[in-house]
Amino acid sequence: MTAVKVTARGAERWKQGHPWIYRSDVADEPDKTPGIVPVTDRKGKFFGQALYSPKSEIRLRLLTRGKEPIDATWWTERIAAAAQRRNGIGASAWRVVHAEGDGLPSLIIDRYGPWIVAQLLSAGLETARADVVAGITAALAPDGILFRNDAGVRRHEGLPAEVVLAFGQVPEVVEVVEDGLKYLAAPWSGQKTGAFLDQRENRLLVGQHTRAGGRALDLFTYHGSFALHVARKAKTVLAVDQSTEALSRGGENAQLNGITNIEWREANAFDLLRELERRREQFDTIVLDPPAFAKTKANLERALGGYKEINLRAMKILAPGGVLFTSSCSYHVSRDLFHALLADAARDSGRRMQFLAATGAASDHPELLNVPETGYLKGVLLTAPA
Ligand code: SAH
Repeated sequence: MTAVKVTARGAERWKQGHPWIYRSDVADEPDKTPGIVPVTDRKGKFFGQALYSPKSEIRLRLLTRGKEPIDATWWTERIAAAAQRRNGIGASAWRVVHAEGDGLPSLIIDRYGPWIVAQLLSAGLETARADVVAGITAALAPDGILFRNDAGVRRHEGLPAEVVLAFGQVPEVVEVVEDGLKYLAAPWSGQKTGAFLDQRENRLLVGQHTRAGGRALDLFTYHGSFALHVARKAKTVLAVDQSTEALSRGGENAQLNGITNIEWREANAFDLLRELERRREQFDTIVLDPPAFAKTKANLERALGGYKEINLRAMKILAPGGVLFTSSCSYHVSRDLFHALLADAARDSGRRMQFLAATGAASDHPELLNVPETGYLKGVLLTAPA
């Protein structure tokens, strides 16, 4: 394909370790069809090869600084290397490729036992679909490959939303084992690629810090994945979600594990927290894992208000010596902002909140300092010393 030429500012981004070059830093794009293109400066000096998306603000995503052919073998080697870096995960479902975080921009590959659920999130990558499928097949030898190409970001690329089977078979429901606990994932229809794999290490952390024999509260429980870990140690767990469907899957998950100390309650978490506070109820372990309140920068202010409210109320109903794990998956809420709003909530709550740990997404979702977009999940573990 004909080379795409970039400005000095565009080239500088690659030097600084960020794989994206925006539309405004492209100097010449003669052939406006998506694909894998050589990238040069205005005079033709070669910089590397990139995925090219003619309709996206993110025009170029760096694949390699070399001139090697980007074929099925190339994808196989890159995918195998990413899988290799993840040796020893204590679960049957995990992320094999975390896009930019693994040097494979806009490509997500998740493993659910013998099945693969993947996402092609750019127009350039979409043109390499056949080679990517060949690469996944050769590197991971799956029983099936499903593309969950229904992620919203594909719109910015001019790509359709679709869920398609690319190879073999992938079941509607997959049983995942995580640290000895079982849960059901739904590759075709569940959130993300079928489950929240990014919280795996946080679930283990919360399990470890759960107060034995105490009372626990898991808000925004979805399929109860935190609740299950907590239930192994707590006396009782109140698991809350506004979705009946999510709760019934939670119930199935508990049953799979023979867990009987979780009460599943359909409620709005905001209302319930207010009510629990009014009734002066207390919990020894609390988990807050809400959906992204700040979907865009525009509603950041409102989102911060929402985060502060639930955290403030959770702090108020935390038993002396209790543990609160709180998280935010809004990309627009930076780690600094999140910590600042928690400090704010702590002051307003009148409780002395001690910081135990700050976490992010599980290590199979590597975050690059140079590429802030690779990180979005923040977790904080707090305790209210007795
Ligand atoms: N903790 C889960 C993921 C939570 S996803 C896990 O680790 O798997 C967010 C969940 O919050 C969804 O299930 C959604 O139904 C629920 N939710 C969103 N807004 C809510 C609200 N105001 N009250 C209660 N649940 C809510």
